[in-house]
Amino acid sequence: MKKYNFNAGPSMLPREVIENTAKQCLDFNGSGLSLMEISHRAKDFQPVLDEAESLIKELLQIPDGYSVIFLGGGASLEFCMVPYNFLINKAAYLNTGTWAKKAMKEAKLFGEVVEVASSADANYTFIPKGWTCPADADYLHITTNNTIYGTEIRKELDVNIPMIGDMSSDIFSRPIDVSKYDCIYAGAQKNLAMAGVTLIILKNDKLGKAPRPIPTMLDYRTHVEKGSMFNTPPVVPIYSALETLRWIKANGGVEAMDKLAKQRAEILYGEIDRNKLFRGTVKEEDRSVMNICFVMNDEYAELEKPFFEYATAKGMVGIKGHRSVGGFRASCYNAQTIEGVEALVQCMKEFETQN
Ligand SMILES: *Cc1c(COP(=O)(O)O)cnc(C)c1O
Repeated sequence: MKKYNFNAGPSMLPREVIENTAKQCLDFNGSGLSLMEISHRAKDFQPVLDEAESLIKELLQIPDGYSVIFLGGGASLEFCMVPYNFLINKAAYLNTGTWAKKAMKEAKLFGEVVEVASSADANYTFIPKGWTCPADADYLHITTNNTIYGTEIRKELDVNIPMIGDMSSDIFSRPIDVSKYDCIYAGAQKNLAMAGVTLIILKNDKLGKAPRPIPTMLDYRTHVEKGSMFNTPPVVPIYSALETLRWIKANGGVEAMDKLAKQRAEILYGEIDRNKLFRGTVKEEDRSVMNICFVMNDEYAELEKPFFEYATAKGMVGIKGHRSVGGFRASCYNAQTIEGVEALVQCMKEFETQN
């Protein structure tokens, strides 16, 4: 039976990305060696890094004066590297969910942290509006897509200070205005590659300003200066990212990804709103097009487990909601197909008819 992968992360990747990466793992560029067993300093690997970097700059239209690096440690390591490198006196954080809160917790180790707004009291079912940012803060940290709660800031915010964005779960799904950010970071395993690498975009002239000694490995300058080769980078995950970047470019770039994401979301939210068994969990205007969360309507609460079992039997994978929301979450990153979303909608319709 065909499986439809709605996992939140690590998540679905385009089939050709997996196949091409697998081929290189067996025989890298016809060398007779696996991608897993070559030196990161081998002459064949530098072009992988270079092409990945240049595709990232091209796809996101990154202006001059920014660097692109790859690190290990996941997006979670950036929660501490960001304030380590960028917090001088005060940082502003928008609290939109679990990941934002974790980022804020680390920043408090380095200086004053202002929570500009929070939707915690409403279990993060909306993106707070109408707040202001302290003009003397060094940066505003935002989580552009809240993977767990299914809310998203898809339109660039208009704030008076530079932003730092955790874009782990929506990078490359839409055009972004990089010039508004001093730093953008994204763990790869949602929308870019297999797990094991984090993409970081840095504004060069904002580095080296923090008033504290920074351990070498945690200092962004180390990795910028060494072109992500200060120590051994995650070679296979970076290669898989390159394959995804080629795939995005061949499929029309981030504008096309944006269009597809909106199409998928329209189909699925359309069914959630139509179907009497289900309802969405977040405020309509803040609905994420990447992580689509829904629950059973109250009068059908007892059908949650039966629907999960029904959909699973029809090949749906990874639709269980995060424990802090419950219900269901269908993650629809770039690799998700319209066909996959339609298969899920079909399950919802059939299940409605049977009940
Ligand atoms: C998954 C996720 C993280 C954590 O990523 P790791 O790479 O596991 O550390 C952080 N932020 C967001 C928005 C995420 O979706």
